Amino acid sequence: MFTHSVPDSRSSATDRTDERESSTAVRLEGVTHRYGATGGRFRSSADRTVTALRDVSLEVSTGTIVGLEGPSGSGKSTVLHAVSGLLVPSDGSVELLGTDLAGLSDAERTRLRRRHIGIVFQRFHLLPSLSARANVALPLVQSGLPRRDRRKRATALLEAVGLGDRTTHLPGELSGGERQRVAIARALSTDPDVIVADEPTGELDTATGADVLELLTDVGRDRAVLVASHDQATLEVADRVVTLCDGRVDDVR
Ligand code: ADP
Ligand code: MG
Repeated sequence: MFTHSVPDSRSSATDRTDERESSTAVRLEGVTHRYGATGGRFRSSADRTVTALRDVSLEVSTGTIVGLEGPSGSGKSTVLHAVSGLLVPSDGSVELLGTDLAGLSDAERTRLRRRHIGIVFQRFHLLPSLSARANVALPLVQSGLPRRDRRKRATALLEAVGLGDRTTHLPGELSGGERQRVAIARALSTDPDVIVADEPTGELDTATGADVLELLTDVGRDRAVLVASHDQATLEVADRVVTLCDGRVDDVR
């Protein structure tokens, strides 16, 4: 369905000049995470601590899609949050493009995330009052790119995901599948090296989900993609599937 591939704006969207290499983009080693383990109201009551991840190790190389499966509560989203630097695990290390996230300040981690990671959520997380194009252009505000170029790039990305005729529509005027394609276009706006997708087809019917998966596969050709899902069709586009069970890696296939 998507005849043209997603535009590469390496030179315009970021100041990165080096070519993307086929190497390990994401590396988790011995990651354990306990929610509620430090500070907060429950500090003294150890039974409020939830161990969400136990000694998880995995790698995602550029040009590879890794699926993350497992029942609800098995730790999939926690892995994605750790990769995105949205949380710092209690133990173990998370490396993004060779940088150990634990060694960074909050601000540095945020900067690294904005520049190198595109995030796709189950429920799209589009801003309802902004047009499709404005949603896609939003992450570029911090890039220093002039407004006109931001709009141009957003339009090109929407065209690439098959929504060239929906640029001025509001999210509420789009179908679920269209919204997710807008969200993927937004995730791609900064031309990230890594795409993290949390149940990206969870809200979509089978046919619409297939479109989104085709797009994700296309996107994964020169990026590292980590996709959490319990949908078999979604896991089928992955080169490798890591199964989590109760916070542990149970299987890799
Ligand atoms: P999944 O995405 O596979 O459904 P999660 O990573 O969301 O799993 O959750 C793993 C475990 O961590 C679950 O037991 C969940 O209840 C717990 N958990 C997730 N987020 C939090 C949080 N912010 N605070 C406390 N516990 C959490
Ligand atoms: Mg989840």
